[in-house]
Amino acid sequence: MAVNGKSFLIDTTKCFACRSCQVACKQWNELAAEDPVPTNRGTYENPPDLSHTQWLLIHFNEAERADGTLAWNFVRNSCRHCIDAPCKQAAQNTDSITIDAETGAVLFQEGTRNESFKEILRACPFDVPRQGPDGQMFKCVMCVDRVHNDLLPACATACPSDAIEFGDRQDMLDAADARLEAIRPDFPDAAVLDRHDVRLLILLGDRESMHRLRAAPAAADAE
Ligand code: SF4
Repeated sequence: MAVNGKSFLIDTTKCFACRSCQVACKQWNELAAEDPVPTNRGTYENPPDLSHTQWLLIHFNEAERADGTLAWNFVRNSCRHCIDAPCKQAAQNTDSITIDAETGAVLFQEGTRNESFKEILRACPFDVPRQGPDGQMFKCVMCVDRVHNDLLPACATACPSDAIEFGDRQDMLDAADARLEAIRPDFPDAAVLDRHDVRLLILLGDRESMHRLRAAPAAADAE
């Protein structure tokens, strides 16, 4: 059965980790700077993890390909806006996590402060939800306020290399297939992750193991 609504296509073969998307997300959503300010950890990756004010993060990873060449891969970590969102299924109250009718975006509401963070985080396959000081949970909101006014999400607007496409879901799936076909000679392992299950379609050039796809599981640290 076809799934309507919107989707992102994140083409990691075009991303050069300028992190304009991270900045645009902070700016549009009026998210505070990380506190305390992160220190240098010997990597350009910054800050070290998602937080209640950091909804999008580019992960860096160096890995060696089979032919001996070195790959420096960049991949986005943020909410995937799952089609049948496990976080929503784990919520006790139906109003805590809602689905935007136009886009299919998964939205955390104020009521998440009354949910168990441990259960919501455990349910997420991608270690995405983060909790603010008063218990409310936060993550990417697909910039639905912009999309409802015929604008692209802030991250897609800011990306200078067209590594972030956004549009009707079937169009994004078709664009992903066309891109896979085009890059196959250079990237024989290219693939789109979880294409049937999520609205954030991530296209990888190298094998999945050559990318640092998620932050370290935080469930054990939850309350
Ligand atoms: Fe929910 Fe995690 Fe899926 Fe986002 S990625 S919709 S937080 S389960």
